[in-house]
Amino acid sequence: VGVVPAGSDLLSAAKVVAGHVTGFLQLACQVLPEIAGPTFALDRQRHQYNAGRIIDFYDQCGCSGPAKVIYLVNLDLFEPVFTHVFGESRMGGRVALVSVHRLMPTEPAQPPHWGLERVAKVALHELGHLFALTHCDDTGCLMHFAGDSGVLDTIPLLFCRYCRQSLEEALIRYCRLPRSRV
Ligand SMILES: [Zn+2]
Ligand SMILES: [Zn+2]
Repeated sequence: VGVVPAGSDLLSAAKVVAGHVTGFLQLACQVLPEIAGPTFALDRQRHQYNAGRIIDFYDQCGCSGPAKVIYLVNLDLFEPVFTHVFGESRMGGRVALVSVHRLMPTEPAQPPHWGLERVAKVALHELGHLFALTHCDDTGCLMHFAGDSGVLDTIPLLFCRYCRQSLEEALIRYCRLPRSRV
């Protein structure tokens, strides 16, 4: 797994995400060199950035490198059916997108590590989708859908036992893929 800071000031968030991927899933995860933010995906009517377009772009441009890549951005992302999204990925895909934009605390009383914990939760959720996990009804599970940061804050940093099981099975299947496809 690779984590790419796509934009400036995202290095510490990238390190936190990489630490969580390694710590929670025992997967090798490295922070890759910083690249410019995907500002090409600006939708001029909405003044937001189209998450699907960004994923398509990164999907096409990186055939080599890590099997799964999480791109971190600091942009207000949307999908056509949602007002905003924290992250985006395609089921079983290679590329996930996570934005710190709506996750970092806005009030001075809230310490920054709250924001970083939210970023880690969204990244693990999107990585779950990359390993073909669907949304979970369990409100105590990282695969539960969180549309706003209030809901996200009530979700613990844990996969429920069913999602954990599916994830472990996916990882076993995945590691057995022929080398050329990994
Ligand atoms: Zn999801
Ligand atoms: Zn679950």
